[in-house]
Amino acid sequence: MRIGEILKSQKTTISFEFFPPKTRKGWRRLFDDIAQLVPLNPSFVSVTYGAGGTTRQRTHELVERIAGETGLTVAAHLTCLGSTEEEVQQILTRYNQIGIRNILALRGDPVSPELKTNDQFKNALELITYIRTHFPDYDIGVAGYPEGHPDAPNRLAELDYLKAKVDAGADYIVTQLFFDNRDYYDFCERCIVAGIDVPILAGIMPIISIDNMRKMADLAKRSRFPAGLLRAVQRAQGPECVERVGVHWAAEQVRDLIDHNVAGIHFFTLNHSNAALKVCETLGIQDFSGITGAGNICK
Ligand SMILES: Cc1cc2nc3c(=O)[nH]c(=O)nc-3n(C[C@H](O)[C@H](O)[C@H](O)COP(=O)(O)OP(=O)(O)OC[C@H]3O[C@@H](n4cnc5c(N)ncnc54)[C@H](O)[C@@H]3O)c2cc1C
Repeated sequence: MRIGEILKSQKTTISFEFFPPKTRKGWRRLFDDIAQLVPLNPSFVSVTYGAGGTTRQRTHELVERIAGETGLTVAAHLTCLGSTEEEVQQILTRYNQIGIRNILALRGDPVSPELKTNDQFKNALELITYIRTHFPDYDIGVAGYPEGHPDAPNRLAELDYLKAKVDAGADYIVTQLFFDNRDYYDFCERCIVAGIDVPILAGIMPIISIDNMRKMADLAKRSRFPAGLLRAVQRAQGPECVERVGVHWAAEQVRDLIDHNVAGIHFFTLNHSNAALKVCETLGIQDFSGITGAGNICK
């Protein structure tokens, strides 16, 4: 299904993001995890793409296998920095042939010097424009940054640029991870002021360890770790307790977001779906289809 249609038909969507594993053991573990998530009725899942095409084959394989073996709706991430138009065209044609209709269109981070570089696409806006022109059948998601992106010239130009991505044909926005819902709500309101009227899915990543927290800080350089969260992590007595703190914090975020009628929750799982599952368990949610909130802030 197209994610645009799903967003129109569901009050609050739930989605999970995976990356293509490198080892056979990793693939087996991932499909075991996905089997545990299926009963929750996720609205869709998404598969990341290594910047510069480093996971091109594995991303395609994972997208194809999830769609074929589970019947779940899949969005394939696609980054464009360092790729030629021909490469992008081949990837989109291949997905088209196997019935994939959802692309998360991204610029990606600059590729390392040893990888072939190419400046045919400079940013996500150019990729979206290309997809809309040559592959009009795709539903397109784009990234948004409640706390700003390090490359933004300033916070006003950043919103104008996000609006340009939506005007070029993006159907929805998935945000970078955040730990304080006020940042997300303010982002949604600023989007409304800027005339951006597509659904904004909230990116949530439960902390599972101190190490994982450091990785998250690196991955989402602008994401703020609130003092209350840092204090709770410091108080945790052992690694298992850090995970419990992370699950509790994320569960509170998700509960509050659903109460505010968020368009969707997008879990960055880093292929550790257990924490996302525990968040749903904590909230007493066994099936996400049809859950409703109150109010009308973000949709
Ligand atoms: C939900 C999500 C999924 C992701 N999945 C992947 C993945 O699978 N693989 C991967 O490698 N990376 C992924 N990323 C990371 C992403 O590739 C990086 O954050 C990258 O640095 C920016 O990509 P983008 O598509 O947001 O770029 P763009 O939208 O092109 O630009 C990023 C930011 O730069 C600024 N900017 C750029 N051009 C302009 C302009 N002309 N005027 C004003 N501001 C401008 C804006 O602040 C903008 O938000 C993901 C990020 C998110 C939030």
